[in-house]
Amino acid sequence: MPTIVICFDGMAPEYLVHADTPVFDRLGREGRWITGHCQMPSVTNVNNVSILSGAKPVAHGINANFAIGSDGVEVYMESPDAIRVPLLQQRAADAGQRVAAISSKAKLAAIIGQHADVTFSVEHPLAWVVESIGAPPPIYSFEANLWLLRAARLVMERERPDFLYVTTTDYLGHMLPPEADEARATFTESDRLVGALIEGIDDVSIAITADHGMNAKRRCLSPEAILAAHGIEAVSVSTLQDRYTRHHGNMSGSAYIHLDRSIRERAAEVLRASAGIERVLTREEAAGEFALDPALIGELVLLGDIETAFGGGDEPECAVEIRSHGSLHEARVPVITWGPRFEGFDGTENRSIGAWLHRQYDGLAAVSAPREAPAV
Ligand SMILES: [Zn+2]
Repeated sequence: MPTIVICFDGMAPEYLVHADTPVFDRLGREGRWITGHCQMPSVTNVNNVSILSGAKPVAHGINANFAIGSDGVEVYMESPDAIRVPLLQQRAADAGQRVAAISSKAKLAAIIGQHADVTFSVEHPLAWVVESIGAPPPIYSFEANLWLLRAARLVMERERPDFLYVTTTDYLGHMLPPEADEARATFTESDRLVGALIEGIDDVSIAITADHGMNAKRRCLSPEAILAAHGIEAVSVSTLQDRYTRHHGNMSGSAYIHLDRSIRERAAEVLRASAGIERVLTREEAAGEFALDPALIGELVLLGDIETAFGGGDEPECAVEIRSHGSLHEARVPVITWGPRFEGFDGTENRSIGAWLHRQYDGLAAVSAPREAPAV
């Protein structure tokens, strides 16, 4: 009973409102299609790991794409070593199943490729894939994800995995709004390729979701500069930056603020008075509300309003024209499930897909585990 899970990076529900998607429509009609929510912060690595583990960030350990621990040590969140719970690939492999995991971005390959019999990315494709469907387009193109979906079909035909995970890149989401002709055409073609992916495969089940949504941002705030203007020293980490560089353009709708606890209340007051900041939470409040690991999120957690992102730099505020994510406004995602494996599925989060499948593998492991000898 092959199972496919696809994470369309940055696929806000609005993209599917504007595009023609007859296949998704059918899957939703025959199965289930809801608008659910992702994990906070609404960034890529946090949510890919939640989808694959079924767990919340406090349990799986990935609380941003990058973090500074409470000991001040920088923690890179691209390595599988940071993940504290088993992912579906491992559960499936342990249950004797054949596993494939493919991605657009190479940076996700290290996390998703563990325990997979077959793994590659658009950036680092395998020779036999290129021989069959041609060389992949550049990673910064709207066609990169379409190539990955064609590769997914090839993997299903040639490798016959029991479990296939596909995760794309959100380049399109960062570049185009849902109503753009090219966005609509790309999602319609993605829909057609998903139809081709499951065509004629016996007993196949599929789940389609996103790691986060996407919104236009008009204002960028530098929390460090805002606080510095009040004589408060702090280090701000944008939740979607890949590594710590102060002048980096990785602007996120949420940020972790590291500072001395003794000045936390004063800093929170200053930040609450700044236009564009929707919520200022203490470490404890954020950990409680969003199930985050308090050791990895700094003393304060900032959430922007729909058009505000957090970055670095010496200017407290600047005008930008970008599309990004990270805030609560990008937390709505489609959750589409179809096929025998998802009969009875009633999850409301992207990670519910993983949690559901983990429970099924629990059953498989119980069936295949050797029986204990009866106690004498
Ligand atoms: Zn993403």
